[in-house]
Parts: sequence; C-alpha cells; structure tokens
Amino acid sequence: MTATVTTVRRPERNAWVQLYVPEIVKGLAITSKQFFKNLGAAALGKRGDVVTIQYPDVKRDYPARYRGLHRLTYRDDGQVRCVACMCCSTICPAKCIHIEAGQHEDTSIEKYPVSFVIDELRCIVCGLCVEACPCDAIRMDTGIHAHPFYERDKAFLDREALLALGIPSTAKQGGHLKGGHAGGH
Ligand code: SF4
Ligand code: SF4
Repeated sequence: MTATVTTVRRPERNAWVQLYVPEIVKGLAITSKQFFKNLGAAALGKRGDVVTIQYPDVKRDYPARYRGLHRLTYRDDGQVRCVACMCCSTICPAKCIHIEAGQHEDTSIEKYPVSFVIDELRCIVCGLCVEACPCDAIRMDTGIHAHPFYERDKAFLDREALLALGIPSTAKQGGHLKGGHAGGH
C-alpha cells in the first residue's frame, strides 16, 4: 500500500508581507471601523454589536448548574436540614468546611450543626460537598459568585449566613414522617 502525501502550500512571505506595516494598517482600519460603528449606534441609543455589559449594573444570567456561594437548606419546620454527619467536610479537598456537631433534643434527628463554617476563599468550587451530602442539606445553587473580600474573616460564611441564603429542602425528610412511618433522608 502506498502512502498518500498531501503537500500543504506555505503562504508566501514576500517583502510586502514582511514589511508588517500594511497588515498593521489593515488591522487598525478594522478596529476603527468597529469603533465608529458602535459609537454611532450608542449615539442613537442602540447597543450595536457590543458584547461587553455594564457590570455590575447589568449581570449575565448564570447557567442553572453554576456553582455559586453555598447555602444550607431548611426542614419543613424551619430547622436546619443538616444532621452534622461530616460527609461534606470529610470529602472536601480544600478542608474548608468546619462543623461542630451537637446533640439534638429530637432523637429522630440525633445531631445538628451547632457551628457550620465554610471558608469561601479556600473553597475550590468543586461541588463535592453537595454531591456527598446524603440529605440535600447543602447546595451551591444560590446563583451568587464569591466576590472579593476586603477582610479575611468576611470570607467565612457561618451557619447563620448560610441559612440566610437557605431555601426549604426538597428531599424526603427522615425520622418521623407525616403519615407515621420512619424513612431515610
Ligand atoms: S465546593 Fe469543594 S472545596 Fe468548596 S467546600 Fe465544597 S467540597 Fe470543599
Ligand atoms: S451538610 Fe450534609 S454532608 Fe454536610 S454535615 Fe450536613 S448533612 Fe452531612
């Protein structure tokens, strides 16, 4: 079998091309044309084909699966959904979740987080904590990205801050369910 060889013609680099000046002028002409076109559109109150946005006054919509700041979810009765099982803090590769567990007075719940702190500056936004949680207690679907912090401790989101962003969990609640039987999370 004979091999087929395709010869690719190299572009000719004559003295005119090597001079660069004509190509620079050509590039500047394209940039200027776009500039005056958009300037004219702006004068008429239109956006033209400008792709930039006036951030932060205008913000782009994040995709539905965007991983934003964390939040903790609530139970049906408004209590924190988390049962302090430590799955999230164990799997976290950045070791930025710190949980202090307490004994819940309701024996069907057993434990709850007395303290739950996430260091958002150390977080690498991998989403493993959300994947590891067995009861939909932690999510990253706030649609809010972690903004720069002027003070280091402002990057620590504690239980109250995480609950302030919280929403009711859609997971089936464990312990004593309405209807009388016990079930998993
Ligand atoms: S997203 Fe990843 S790095 Fe951030 S807290 Fe969750 S597990 Fe840790
Ligand atoms: S958020 Fe979920 S995984 Fe983390 S401690 Fe609470 S229940 Fe466990």
